[in-house]
Amino acid sequence: MKIDEILKKKKTISFEVFPPKKENAEVSGIYRTIDSLRQLNPDFISVTYGASGSNSKNTAEIASYIKNSAKIEALAHITGGPSSYEDIDRMASELRKNNIENVLALRGDKPVDYSAEYCRYFKHATDLMEYLSGYDFSLGAACYPEGHSECDTLYEDLINMRKKEEAGAGFFITQIFYDNSYYYRLVNEARNVGIKSPILPGIMPLTSAKNIKKIKDMCGSTIPLEFRNMIEIYRDKPAVMEEIGLNYAVYQIIDLIAKGAPGIHLYIMNNADVAKEIHMRLRRVFSELF
Ligand code: FAD
Repeated sequence: MKIDEILKKKKTISFEVFPPKKENAEVSGIYRTIDSLRQLNPDFISVTYGASGSNSKNTAEIASYIKNSAKIEALAHITGGPSSYEDIDRMASELRKNNIENVLALRGDKPVDYSAEYCRYFKHATDLMEYLSGYDFSLGAACYPEGHSECDTLYEDLINMRKKEEAGAGFFITQIFYDNSYYYRLVNEARNVGIKSPILPGIMPLTSAKNIKKIKDMCGSTIPLEFRNMIEIYRDKPAVMEEIGLNYAVYQIIDLIAKGAPGIHLYIMNNADVAKEIHMRLRRVFSELF
């Protein structure tokens, strides 16, 4: 089923997984993760795509496992950045052949040695969305509660977000954030500029102090001072740190749901146990409100 249609009917709970980083690595480990996630009855599972397009075969294979073996809706990410029209046609046909109906259309991060040649065919996610319009996917797009790093102002980024909706995005998934007020501001401002599609908040439980640096490098999300202080105090006590990270994510989710978020997208870093813990702590919220 198409995700934009599901979102018209209910709040969604979804998870993001990523293929093994090495192109020829075994994908069986990720299949075990997906089988575990199945018990949680998610509305969909998304699969990331290497910015260079290198492991696109794995993305299609894993999305197909989600859809056809685990019987869960799959959302395949595609990054247009380095791809040619032929690459995208190959990927889109493979997905359609496997009955996958949903694509998160992205540009991908610019590599350090970026040149205009890199994005020759698909300068922005909007170009990819327009190209994919003939394939009958439900298209989603990324959005940024703290603004995208290449934009000088949030307003500029919002206008580009609106272009994504005009190019066919029927739903959005946000970048990771730890301060919900950035999400509320984004939703408010998006509605002010006329964006109507559901905006799914992306939450990543921060269960290890080591991940602070990763988050900073990956997306630069602000970590609120109070939460950061707790992490600093307990950084050498992994079990305590894990408890704090899980509870913080639970707090974020409850607040988001109470304020009307259309669902929750969990970045679980291929760790089904994190998903299960969050789900267990929120089982009554999910069963009564979703
Ligand atoms: P774009 O939409 O092209 O935006 C990039 C910049 O250009 C922004 O500053 C935007 O404001 C501006 N812009 C957008 N459209 C236009 C336009 N039409 N005209 C002018 N300016 C424009 N990366 C991966 O490599 N693989 C993944 O699987 C992946 N999954 C992600 C999932 C989510 C939910 C999120 C939030 C990010 C994901 N990323 C992934 C990271 C993403 O590729 C980077 O954030 C990238 O820098 C921007 O991608 P985009 O699709 O938002 O690009």
